Amino acid sequence: MEKKPFITLEKLKEIDKTYPTPYHIYDEKGIRENARRLNEAFSWNKGFKEYFAVKATPNPYILNILKEEGCGVDCSSLTELMMADKLNYDGTDIMFSSNDTPAEEFVYARKINATINLDDFTHIDFLKDCAGIPETISLRYNPGGVFKISNNIMDNPGDAKYGLTHDQIIEGYKKLKELGAKKFGMHSFLASNTVTNEYYPTLAKTLFELAVEIKEKAGVEISFINLSGGVGIPYTPDKEPNDIKIIGKKVKEVYDEVLVPAGLGEVSIFTELGRFMLAPYGHLVTKAIHEKHTHKEYIGVDACAANLMRPAIYGAYHHITVAGKEDAPCDHKYDVVGSLCENCDKFAIDRMLPKIDMGDFLVIHDTGAHGFSMGYNYNGRLRSAELLLKEDGSVSMIRRAETPKDYFATFDFTGIFDDIK
Ligand SMILES: *Cc1c(COP(=O)(O)O)cnc(C)c1O
Repeated sequence: MEKKPFITLEKLKEIDKTYPTPYHIYDEKGIRENARRLNEAFSWNKGFKEYFAVKATPNPYILNILKEEGCGVDCSSLTELMMADKLNYDGTDIMFSSNDTPAEEFVYARKINATINLDDFTHIDFLKDCAGIPETISLRYNPGGVFKISNNIMDNPGDAKYGLTHDQIIEGYKKLKELGAKKFGMHSFLASNTVTNEYYPTLAKTLFELAVEIKEKAGVEISFINLSGGVGIPYTPDKEPNDIKIIGKKVKEVYDEVLVPAGLGEVSIFTELGRFMLAPYGHLVTKAIHEKHTHKEYIGVDACAANLMRPAIYGAYHHITVAGKEDAPCDHKYDVVGSLCENCDKFAIDRMLPKIDMGDFLVIHDTGAHGFSMGYNYNGRLRSAELLLKEDGSVSMIRRAETPKDYFATFDFTGIFDDIK
């Protein structure tokens, strides 16, 4: 699919008068339309709810947009739970799917009534001892082995640190029931960034069949099944996006085939999508500030891997558009690089792009999820601002850029950095 930015050169120039590059910018209209498509696709399920994976884009303004579209939140840590609490989510609209969880986080999750999704059998006793067993509780399943769709290996759950085994999860529900739990959920996340309409339906079938088995063997009726994240997006132009409408329809087919005949036709379907909800609706905007002609042709930009880590850590492809040159021939081969003293700090390697001039705006696509949020401060680099392109076309800042003062704040106790702004 052709990749087009949601923002024009004209708009970028206008923004430049107020907000310097680099920045992440999000497209409110795109976010809302996509959330509506998801909710529509699963509207056949009475209890359906998307719990947006906060870690993908932990910004209160973004969460509020999704909240208005009916989404809850999936938190993975104390600070994410705090954010959800401050934004006045009901406990039932907060999922707490964490692993290797510290006791204080369980205590806090219980306090705000979040639904706890336990990652291990031993966490049942751990939770009992630190916070008590709540009425509603969920367990995370890991079937081990490899996860296949048809004959394609999608991912390797046998190697993943998450979740309970088949036998543990059955014992887990028995134990939770004995300890007084009343409402039970099941969760599983078996493959990441899948670009196929088959992922959710295949996962759903596994979980639905397990729910039937749990009913028989543990005497526990599962109330909600959380398909978690993993529905992906096409980062490269050669891929076609997932069709959420087809995905919803196929999950319904499996639901009708497996759950309904087993008397489990009331099960609510939950999702915890992050990437699918936000990635395409965010851009990292950066300016070309250097060109270097050595053994290769380099374009140096004012963003770096501290603003977007995925290319550096996964070798991930992010499409780049040179704003205003959308129709120019891609007849120059560049490495597009940031300033970190790390040779992996490259947004693109041997990428064919139009001729880039100094001052050109480069739009790096699909940074709306796992973009800003994975940022860090290596080399003393500072996190950028986050902007929101609103539905009416105006732009507002939804997080300011870090300043040197922020960077020095955690060792400010000596007083010698007090005058830094
Ligand atoms: C990261 C994560 C998600 C979101 O994953 P995406 O790939 O962004 O959809 C959902 N649930 C859990 C438990 C996660 O760790």
